Amino acid sequence: MSNKVLIIGAGGVSNVVVKKCAQNSAVFGEILLASRTLAKCDAIAKDIKNIPVHTAKVDADNSEEVVALIKDFKPKLVMNIALPYQDLAIMDACLKTGVDYLDTANYEPKDVAKFEYSWQWAYHERFKQAGIMALLGSGFDPGMTNVYTAYAKKHYFDRMDTLDIVDCNNGDHGKAFATNFNPEINIREITQNGRFFENGSWKEIPPLSIKADIEYPEVANRGSYVLFHEELESLVKHYPELKRARFWMTFGDNYIKHLTVLQNVGMTSIQPIKFQGHDVIPLEFLKALLPEPSSLGEGYSGKTCIGCQVVGEKDGKPRTYFVYNVCDHAECFKEVGGQAIAYTTAVPAMLGASMMLTGKWRGQGVFNMEQFDPDPFMAEIGKWGLPWTELHGEKAVLVR
Ligand code: NDP
Repeated sequence: MSNKVLIIGAGGVSNVVVKKCAQNSAVFGEILLASRTLAKCDAIAKDIKNIPVHTAKVDADNSEEVVALIKDFKPKLVMNIALPYQDLAIMDACLKTGVDYLDTANYEPKDVAKFEYSWQWAYHERFKQAGIMALLGSGFDPGMTNVYTAYAKKHYFDRMDTLDIVDCNNGDHGKAFATNFNPEINIREITQNGRFFENGSWKEIPPLSIKADIEYPEVANRGSYVLFHEELESLVKHYPELKRARFWMTFGDNYIKHLTVLQNVGMTSIQPIKFQGHDVIPLEFLKALLPEPSSLGEGYSGKTCIGCQVVGEKDGKPRTYFVYNVCDHAECFKEVGGQAIAYTTAVPAMLGASMMLTGKWRGQGVFNMEQFDPDPFMAEIGKWGLPWTELHGEKAVLVR
């Protein structure tokens, strides 16, 4: 099977997605890589020798430009590896042309720092009518974490009571301050109020106001903070039995110190200000100053550990389970020239696409990862670079 795929975006994650698709040449036969800056597409494409990778310039905010590319290239699937701002314009283009869609992050409007699935779920009926499929959030978190949760439920639980998704980056990129994926999206995510689900409703908390020390297996003991993450929304919807669902992420003191200062001086604001007669959005200006996530790989040391802790019941007995992956920044750089955050996002993106293209995951409408059988995904993900480990009982308790 030799499928044609259109990949949009040419940043840190896309660099790894394209290389991983090329490694899986039994499924991916030809790629058109299109983004806002053509030179970035060319720089990625030049490393791929075993399958054709064409490049093009596109402004994916303009749905018609994406439609034109699809009509010309005739892909079976469009992979949106650009930014969440482009999700709806690209979904519109897929609807107009009858082509499947995949992304790694849910839509957020540029002028409001708010992300939720409502905008994309609203496409379900139209995708269904058109007989096409959209797979949302096929990265690591969201993505792999949704599959881990589905796997936990399928194999280990009659009832899941609590879910804690824990995300540790214990790496060191050697820069004073940098974000591991798009700075604008990253800073918008972290500076908003935190949120978690408990007893049927969402609890809102000030940013980074709940902290716990978590012992991440094989990696480190790190201070971790509760924040809202998009997979909580879909997992709570698809597993209504969950009494509590939280997401934890590590941040070093240095990162928080920089972020606090930047916030205090107004550099993380998305409200335009007038500067020398021009409208400037401080956060966009900050992004231009910060290192590109794709440039962080070289010299990056340390590991990530991301996983899901589930507490619940099986056969009338209480049960605790933790499933996780550990990924090494330097190993990723050696393999594909990217750091572990890009790598852990890109591998599930490639494999989600592969599940769609091979028909192992199939549906008409708009879907989250946990809605499909986790087994074929879990069976393959290790082979593509993200092996997983399970812990049971007391060893599986990372956070209470
Ligand atoms: P980067 O900023 O490195 O790359 C984004 C790319 O999208 C750039 O090439 C950029 O072009 C391109 N782009 C932006 N706007 C447009 C547009 N209007 N038309 C065409 N191309 C455009 O980001 P990352 O690679 O770090 O992140 C990519 C995606 O992955 C993001 O959506 C991010 O939220 C998501 N992500 C998901 C994770 C998960 O686990 N699910 C984890 C990490 C990231 P240019 O180079 O010209 O700016």
